[in-house]
Amino acid sequence: MVREVWKRELADAVRDPAELCELLNLDPATAKKANKVSRDFPFLVPRGFISRMQQGDPNDPLLLQVLPRLEELDDVPGFVSDPVGEQAARQGAGLIQKYHGRCLLLVTGGCAVNCRYCFRREFPYAESGASPSSFTPAVAQIGHDSSIHEVILSGGDPLLADDALLEDLIQKIASIAHVQRLRIHTRIPVVLPSRITEHFLRIMHETRLTVCLVIHANHAAELDSTVAESLRKLGQVIPLRFNQAVLLRGVNDTTESLVHLSERLLDLGVTPYYLHLLDPVRGASDFNVPEETGRRLVEELRNRLPGYAVPRLAREHPGSPSKTWLA
Ligand code: SF4
Repeated sequence: MVREVWKRELADAVRDPAELCELLNLDPATAKKANKVSRDFPFLVPRGFISRMQQGDPNDPLLLQVLPRLEELDDVPGFVSDPVGEQAARQGAGLIQKYHGRCLLLVTGGCAVNCRYCFRREFPYAESGASPSSFTPAVAQIGHDSSIHEVILSGGDPLLADDALLEDLIQKIASIAHVQRLRIHTRIPVVLPSRITEHFLRIMHETRLTVCLVIHANHAAELDSTVAESLRKLGQVIPLRFNQAVLLRGVNDTTESLVHLSERLLDLGVTPYYLHLLDPVRGASDFNVPEETGRRLVEELRNRLPGYAVPRLAREHPGSPSKTWLA
């Protein structure tokens, strides 16, 4: 059987920092440092995403998001393995409930890219029970709780699952009368746009659920013509499309960078939704941007953009009944 394009691209993704440095004409010493820190949270980046990086630039904003750095080994007070308290919110195999009326279903433990600042970089997926066999009890649990009106597919990246599996899962969720909405949190339309198959688009078109797609892009350079095409197709079947970005030092912590991101997203039919302050996960402290800087940046965005193009600055506190809006 012929493997789908996106599966071939994923299998061919770069898993060795030395190869990435060679492809981008970077100092090989950079790769040696990266190798020292990528054992626990492996290095992984698709070639299409690499093709959007600048040759010879060690500070490229896309490169910085994926290349392991020695600073990951620093033990910084306040940076912990579970920064948003997800372990306490686990409801059963693959199910997390943090907020009223919504629950999170972990569809996969894998992603198409490993972002070094990820708040789930130490999430114990193997213990969480997230697997196709856990969906039956998880869906039954959702069916028994009539307060749940929205199911959020998360991961890892939920679109790493096969179309057949997603179709079956979404049909099961849609069979629960009190669930009205399906939200999909995914970075895949940005990092592996070929994953948006005709089959997936059909599933989105046919479900009775109102679908809300939340993508994750942090810099305008991530959104090239291949991403634009995937978002155009998604726009034909999913009216609600939003972006969540993370405010990252060296990547997007300037007004210009955030203005370009918002403008590019709007041109592609995606509303800038949240600008998250970094969740203090162990190994990511080097990306941290102070809250005051975040507030100032959003204030400056208000002076440059129409209101609908300004994302909300937000932070998540473990155990809180909602995210905290800071600006
Ligand atoms: S794609 Fe999302 S879940 Fe996966 S590593 Fe990146 S930030 Fe984390």
